[in-house]
Amino acid sequence: SRVPLIAGNWKMNLDHLQAIAFVQKLAWSLADAKHDFAAVEVAVFPPFTDLRSVQTLVAADKLPLAYGGQDLSAQDSGAYTGEIPGGFLKQLDCGYVIIGHSERRTMHAETDEVVAAKVQAALRHDLVPIICVGETAEDLEEHGPSAVPVAQLKAALAGVSSAADIVVAYEPVWAIGSGQAATPEQAEQVAAALRATLAETLGEDVAAKTRILYGGSVKAANIAGFMREPNVDGALVGGASLDIDEFSSIARFQ
Ligand code: 13P
Repeated sequence: SRVPLIAGNWKMNLDHLQAIAFVQKLAWSLADAKHDFAAVEVAVFPPFTDLRSVQTLVAADKLPLAYGGQDLSAQDSGAYTGEIPGGFLKQLDCGYVIIGHSERRTMHAETDEVVAAKVQAALRHDLVPIICVGETAEDLEEHGPSAVPVAQLKAALAGVSSAADIVVAYEPVWAIGSGQAATPEQAEQVAAALRATLAETLGEDVAAKTRILYGGSVKAANIAGFMREPNVDGALVGGASLDIDEFSSIARFQ
């Protein structure tokens, strides 16, 4: 049985001072609601400049929240101006790192090869990669629902061993920030295809234990439907993760 993961991708929002207040209040809100962190894991993904502050707060208050970076470099060090390597994230006690988000793929020209190299970089540093895949509206029309996400996942898994700990996030590009979420049935159909791909490439055991998240206009009002689907093990939440009450509700699937 897979422990669900509710992950908040802050994108380019909340500076390090805002992050400290936000994480503290989020922890209070979840504690008030008697959130069982062993039953549903909650993680936040702040901008890089926030991570040291978040680490300090989480460690000082022993908060049961996980956190990670929104991206990392495929390289470990060197002349790569502006890049952040996995080793630095690990030193800040990050557990996860988001890789191949559609905004990175489209605005920063990240190819499937770059994504695969970043997955390798994450695994080298003992970070759990959250591998994002998803089709555009045009892809959907041309290739149907699963073809592009499955191809992206296969490419991202090049060189990944069956011992690796990974998370997959299915985020249809047309559903991100559009207010137009996929239906639970649509999410389940692609999640099932992605799980079949994991079984094919890494074996049944990995497929059975790997969490597959849905992302794209998730909010408190629609999370329950996704969580009822057998192959959806959580959510990667953008906009709604910036509202403490809303995100706290999503973590309780209500
Ligand atoms: P929204 O929840 O704002 O649609 O964003 C989804 C997303 O891209 C999370 O990574």
